[in-house]
Amino acid sequence: MSTHRPRKRFGQNFLHDAGVIRRIVECIRPTTGQTLVEIGPGRGALTAPLLEQLVHLDVIEIDRDLVAGLRAAYPSGRLCVHEADALKFDFTALSAERGAALRLVGNLPYNISTPLLFHVLTQAGAIDDMHFMLQKEVVQRMAAAAGGKDYGRLSVMLAWRCRVQALFDIAPGAFTPAPQVTSSLVRLIPHATPPFEVGDPGVFRDLVTRAFTQRRKTLRNALGKQVPAETLEELGIDPGLRPQMLSPSDFAAIARALSTPAS
Ligand code: SAM
Repeated sequence: MSTHRPRKRFGQNFLHDAGVIRRIVECIRPTTGQTLVEIGPGRGALTAPLLEQLVHLDVIEIDRDLVAGLRAAYPSGRLCVHEADALKFDFTALSAERGAALRLVGNLPYNISTPLLFHVLTQAGAIDDMHFMLQKEVVQRMAAAAGGKDYGRLSVMLAWRCRVQALFDIAPGAFTPAPQVTSSLVRLIPHATPPFEVGDPGVFRDLVTRAFTQRRKTLRNALGKQVPAETLEELGIDPGLRPQMLSPSDFAAIARALSTPAS
């Protein structure tokens, strides 16, 4: 694996800092018998210390050269290497096969991080928790509370599905090659029951997307005819507000109102 040249198209920035790797594993706290799944194991920087604590580990890697290296390095009874695209991976089926909810971990390729989050969150019922290394700026958006500049579509959609906890920052020098940006480790814990009902999930998603596509506009202007100002007023929401002033549960209330057929 050491002769493998990092591939930009797969977002390959390999961790090499032993202190950072130790800190990440301490945050994950893997214990024997747990069902962990690592996304993008690469050259095994996290895989090796995780396997020290576990009987068995599943990993998902898209780069076939790295897959070959991982299969050569560990017996299949301990490391099950899925050569697959994590964006299309069926985590629910793996959880059923293993007979347990999954703990997902990964130093994720930056180019697919947001679509991957949405993909795994559609399968949140199969997942116990997640620890991901992502671009710091993305983690700030994920964890942002209403009112701030980082608060947007990602913050609202995640608040519906899980609790988000930013853990610590990782400087570019911890990786080879060094990325242009600082990274952060983030923990996501799916809600056992959602904190609010959203009505039709498609309506909720479209509403939130529409609101934040035009975040400098007022709700009245950003949402246009699809959400009459009277609907907002009936919910006690001022149509003159900017979208970032609404809490995730406010968006959910609007989506419920739009999902309910008029009587
Ligand atoms: N975990 C390793 C580490 O920390 O050194 C590698 C991290 S590197 C940022 C991202 C890894 O994800 C690479 O091994 C890359 O090949 C893999 N990868 C990229 N896109 C992927 C995808 N769609 N599905 C699965 N793995 C992917």
